[in-house]
Amino acid sequence: MRVVQSIFVFAYLLITSAVYAVSINENKAANYFDSIKKDPELLSSFLKAFPKGADIHTHISGASFSENLISYASPSENLCVDLQTFAVSTNANCPLSQQLNSMSTNQALLDNLIDAWSMRHFSSNKESGHDHFFATFGKFNAITHTHRGDILAEMADRAALQNEIYLEVMVAPDDKAAINLSKKIGCIANNDYDAMRQKLLQAKLDEVITLISKNADHDEDVMRNKMQCDSANPHAGCNIKMRYLYQVSREQEPCAVFAQLLAGFEVAVKDTRFVGVNMVQPEDGKIAMRDYSLHMQMVRYLHSLYPQVKFSLHAGELNKELIEKDTSGDAFLAHTHMLNALTIASPNRIGHGVDIFYEYNIGLIVSAMQKHATLVEVNLTSNEDVLNIQGKSHPLPFYLQHHIPVTLSTDDEGVTRSLLSDEYVKAASTYNLSYLQLKNLARNSIHYAFLPGESLWTNHDYASYVPVCAKETDDCQVFLNRNEKANMEWKLEKRFMEFENRYQS
Ligand SMILES: [Zn+2]
Repeated sequence: MRVVQSIFVFAYLLITSAVYAVSINENKAANYFDSIKKDPELLSSFLKAFPKGADIHTHISGASFSENLISYASPSENLCVDLQTFAVSTNANCPLSQQLNSMSTNQALLDNLIDAWSMRHFSSNKESGHDHFFATFGKFNAITHTHRGDILAEMADRAALQNEIYLEVMVAPDDKAAINLSKKIGCIANNDYDAMRQKLLQAKLDEVITLISKNADHDEDVMRNKMQCDSANPHAGCNIKMRYLYQVSREQEPCAVFAQLLAGFEVAVKDTRFVGVNMVQPEDGKIAMRDYSLHMQMVRYLHSLYPQVKFSLHAGELNKELIEKDTSGDAFLAHTHMLNALTIASPNRIGHGVDIFYEYNIGLIVSAMQKHATLVEVNLTSNEDVLNIQGKSHPLPFYLQHHIPVTLSTDDEGVTRSLLSDEYVKAASTYNLSYLQLKNLARNSIHYAFLPGESLWTNHDYASYVPVCAKETDDCQVFLNRNEKANMEWKLEKRFMEFENRYQS
């Protein structure tokens, strides 16, 4: 026992000594970064290896590359491609020329299909980036829906290759069971949330929660098998910690949205792999616009019952044109999405936050975000593709200037065909960010992740560790063992140390 304990203490001291020495080489790495910042190839190579912490805004439905999706589909699935729209559906009588599995022999067709399923070669001549982007998901849904484990493995391996350590993935693995339950029991008038919740719980919502966990078990088994995690040669992706946000679809009638939200809050309490909730689908959708405030009220109500559950909201994924074409009846509402999210629902994080300059009360938004340290998940390529907002029009510098926490995420690598590393390259070169700023963007991705436990840091300035870890003591290791978040932050600091060591001389 004493020997085991000594080995543990020795290993711990090695790690702590190394991590505490991290700042010695930070300046050297920063100097190198400054020297190569204007060289696209060297910058790209530097930031591919740079520790990026996590991608905390990624949907399983859009994360896979089209080529991989095609490879996941087996002939027995009878997947058939509509040659006009390139949408895939199940059809046992599919003509040979339309069978997905026969596509790989026709390069021209394959190229058109990949372009239709992603933003590759996108041209705005025929349709807007917004319409093309959101249409992709429905085109390959028949594959993403049944190959979640394959996609998770792809995501984990790609994350490991980019020196990430954690993924927070948006999923709804209940095969619409929560939505179907709400349809079965019907809606309750006057938005009586207490009654709606009771009715859903009495109708055995717990069976939906069990199904979510069961499907997550299955998906993780497929993922681990695919990465050979229990073999002598596991993939690097096996080291990626994977957690989930239950995603709620906005473009549905209120009772279905409420049922999904309730399922999300319930599963986050009952299954530790589900660390939070998010709401998805185009924010400018007809129902999403019409019911935006109602959705915020629902989230507020459920959060009051489940205060321990964290949530992020897509808010402000709009541009001037989308706001102005709102037909929901109240022109003011479209200008207040971020404000409504912050003041009614109070999310821990906001996805996008791109329309802040078109919001009516920017001062109130800034003070609310500063007060609650609400992080913005910034998705530069997605914003460029979907909203045509980029460069000086993007509020990233504004958030940085106002000390509002920000991280970079992908939303999503498969559809945009832009990796998290590419997002760091884009941010560094477009906004002339410093090495330390990039480091703090990566640190934010773990600090504001929904992992349980306390942080390693006293605050998001990342100037000092919490007192228990201010010195190399056994108590710090005990603290790290007890706090998953602090442990991941520690791991990230170790990655920085290893990365910066390369620039020692
Ligand atoms: Zn998103």
